[in-house]
Amino acid sequence: MSNRSRRVFMLHVVAGAGALAAAQVRAEVEKVTESDPYARSMGFKTDTNKVDKARYPRHDPSQSCAKCQLYSGKPGDPYGPCSFFGDRLVPPTGWCRNFKPVKA
Ligand code: SF4
Repeated sequence: MSNRSRRVFMLHVVAGAGALAAAQVRAEVEKVTESDPYARSMGFKTDTNKVDKARYPRHDPSQSCAKCQLYSGKPGDPYGPCSFFGDRLVPPTGWCRNFKPVKA
């Protein structure tokens, strides 16, 4: 292998490793968490049963991301994109005060 070929090969290895690392970081960053300041201001919970009843008296445990117009996950997926949170991922069991029921 010539020096040039070796250099090109190493650049591909480094670029591939960087892309993989970036994808892993993005996968973690894309989930909405309860500790996210904006999500917290929206009362976001990953489990609709843990929503603060005193703070959100109109919340009902039957409401969840899976039944929200802004959720586009597929049935059975552990997470799905929420357009309200810029398509970051939320679990179907989640809830926030921007819940918009899917129309029947
Ligand atoms: S907007 Fe809807 S899908 Fe998004 S977090 Fe709130 S309840 Fe869930």
